[in-house]
Amino acid sequence: MCVAGCMDAVRAAVRREGVSRRGFFRGTGAGTVAFAATAVAPAGRALAGPAPGPAAAMLGEGRRVIDLTHTLTADFPTFLGDPAITFEDRAVFDKDGYNMKTWTLVEHTGTHLDAPVHFSENAAAVEAIPVETLVVPLAVIDVTAAADADPDHLLSRADLDAFEAAHGKLPAGCCVAMHSGWGKLATSDTGRFLGRDIDGTMHFPGIAPEAALWLLKERDVAGLAVDTLSLDKGASQDFPTHKIWLPAGRWGLENVANLDQAPASGATLVVGLPKVKDATGAPVRLLALA
Ligand SMILES: [Zn+2]
Repeated sequence: MCVAGCMDAVRAAVRREGVSRRGFFRGTGAGTVAFAATAVAPAGRALAGPAPGPAAAMLGEGRRVIDLTHTLTADFPTFLGDPAITFEDRAVFDKDGYNMKTWTLVEHTGTHLDAPVHFSENAAAVEAIPVETLVVPLAVIDVTAAADADPDHLLSRADLDAFEAAHGKLPAGCCVAMHSGWGKLATSDTGRFLGRDIDGTMHFPGIAPEAALWLLKERDVAGLAVDTLSLDKGASQDFPTHKIWLPAGRWGLENVANLDQAPASGATLVVGLPKVKDATGAPVRLLALA
């Protein structure tokens, strides 16, 4: 809800001044900001506008924060075809003086994380994933040309070799992300994003199980990421890459957005993961510090 104590302050003002709650927020914007500032900002630090902001200062000249997250809406494409999210009003401003909703969603919806337990009986659930593995170097493997030519393309050992030849060995503890170009289709062309054929089988790129196995054995990789619906290609019926990768205690990210804006190497990925006990996955906010 609002900053702690905020609703009490509103109620007190309503009692004192007889103003409407809506009028309080609309008419005393500066007062509200000042109130928030005393509540959350360290003494002596005014709440400034968004730019340049502490992130820019922390990252340094010329660096930026890239949002790798799709906006989650009810009609965002899902693997099982159900709505990505639905809402029920629990409180509405006009009637209750504040807004609050209940969400209903499948854990693996929108831009989301697959926890190791997603494909294992007893591997780590979301809350047990070490935070050290959620802030990691990001390696973006560009397979857009191959995926354009073949929607069933699997990111291969050869794609990994080509990346390392150009950018050096994959950094320790990194996330390896497949950039297939499908990220843009998620909201602009759902038909192509899912790629359903006449039999209903989906066609979109994924990561080859051989490549995942090689990364597991030969490199130090915390997680895999794809800009499609699944680590495995859309036509897969048995999900071999999921089965190799997740039970090994690694995580996966699916439906990653804006990988075309991220550099091939040198960025840091921040995975904003809700800490939900026993969850097999969860929608995430992904930020690349580049
Ligand atoms: Zn998955």
